[in-house]
Amino acid sequence: MEFKLNEEQSKLQAAARELARKEIGPAAAAVDEAEEFAMDNFKKMAALGFTGLLIPPEYGGIGGDMVATVAVMEEIAQACASTADILNAHLILGARPVLLNGTEEQKKKYLPPLTSGSKIGAFAITEADAGSDISGAKSTAVKEGDSYIIDGCKVFITNGPACDIMIIFAGIPALAPRGMTAFIVESSAPGFSRSTPYIKVGMHGGTNCKLIFENARIPASDRLGDEGKGMKICLYTLDEGRICIAAQAVGIGQAVLDHAVAYAKERRQFGRPIGDNQAIQWKLVDMDLKVQAARLLTYHAASLLDNKLSFSREAARAKLFASDASMEIAVDGMQVCGGYGYMMDSPMQRYFRDAKLTQIYEGTSEVQRMVIARALLTA
Ligand SMILES: Cc1cc2nc3c(=O)[nH]c(=O)nc-3n(C[C@H](O)[C@H](O)[C@H](O)COP(=O)(O)OP(=O)(O)OC[C@H]3O[C@@H](n4cnc5c(N)ncnc54)[C@H](O)[C@@H]3O)c2cc1C
Repeated sequence: MEFKLNEEQSKLQAAARELARKEIGPAAAAVDEAEEFAMDNFKKMAALGFTGLLIPPEYGGIGGDMVATVAVMEEIAQACASTADILNAHLILGARPVLLNGTEEQKKKYLPPLTSGSKIGAFAITEADAGSDISGAKSTAVKEGDSYIIDGCKVFITNGPACDIMIIFAGIPALAPRGMTAFIVESSAPGFSRSTPYIKVGMHGGTNCKLIFENARIPASDRLGDEGKGMKICLYTLDEGRICIAAQAVGIGQAVLDHAVAYAKERRQFGRPIGDNQAIQWKLVDMDLKVQAARLLTYHAASLLDNKLSFSREAARAKLFASDASMEIAVDGMQVCGGYGYMMDSPMQRYFRDAKLTQIYEGTSEVQRMVIARALLTA
């Protein structure tokens, strides 16, 4: 197995690294403090074509594969995880389902504004009583002439306050319990509204809110895929998304490691750098090992997808390992930095807060274990 990036993947990684190091990284603390959708960063990523990764040029994208996308996500997340978060919600969760499941008309209508970044995408399955168990979603879609009437409320939605185009899931009552169906919804739809944004622990450059549908009228032509096929679309989309969340976690882990190594070289106690102590060295080694193992699992899952092989279990493994690792690394990294690592002017606290979310969204660590256990026990 070869993980050397090809020329195209390397070019995209280099472009992302330059943007991340020169512009996104220096603004990360300000983005965190502002707690607003990181529009400047979103526009900068769009200018480089990142909002059109994995989408063919005929729909305005720049193509590229999942390995390239992971390389870009990792670089961006290393500088500012919440900027990678908004890209993931927009691109992998918002645009990719249209490419993979849309009619030609839907792809021509919705993909160019998403890939150019002139419109922002989002994805909404979660409801108040349907988190890990998405089959408990209660939103409904009832056909009325050339429209569907959608009722329900989606919670926690990333990019919710900023999005223009969203992929949402609602059940068709006549087909219950297998009625879940996907829809493309524009924010201008009558009967659609949003709550005020949530106040979150971390990932502050991405904003979240409830999406509310009260007698919302959606053209029947905006149904994505067949009636009753929503669960399949949702689960596949989450499989792809998990690879990108793993890449986010790898980026955060690498950022913590780099900061902790630099601090261990600089900080002197007992007349020598703290990095001369084996206790600190072993922490750094364990952090390094976890970052590298997480990266390999992530690229492995991405390359399976690119090679059209089954990747669901590998995506779950990558997300589980990388997100748990990034949280452990954030805890250890803060310990290496001592009291200074606990101060709000150290980036450690941001890494710590951002890492935590990677264990929760797009399937918690417990849900990833369920996916892997099911694969093990039903093989
Ligand atoms: C910041 C943020 C952004 C999000 N963005 C989006 C988005 O863009 N779109 C979207 O649709 N959703 C989004 N979500 C929702 C997210 O995917 C859910 O929060 C997540 O899937 C968990 O659901 P829950 O919060 O309802 O927790 P619950 O499902 O209530 O779980 C609570 C706890 O119980 C555990 N648990 C549940 N069932 C089991 C089980 N069978 N065995 C063992 N443990 C179990 C869970 O692992 C967790 O630890 C977001 C969430 C957050 C916090």
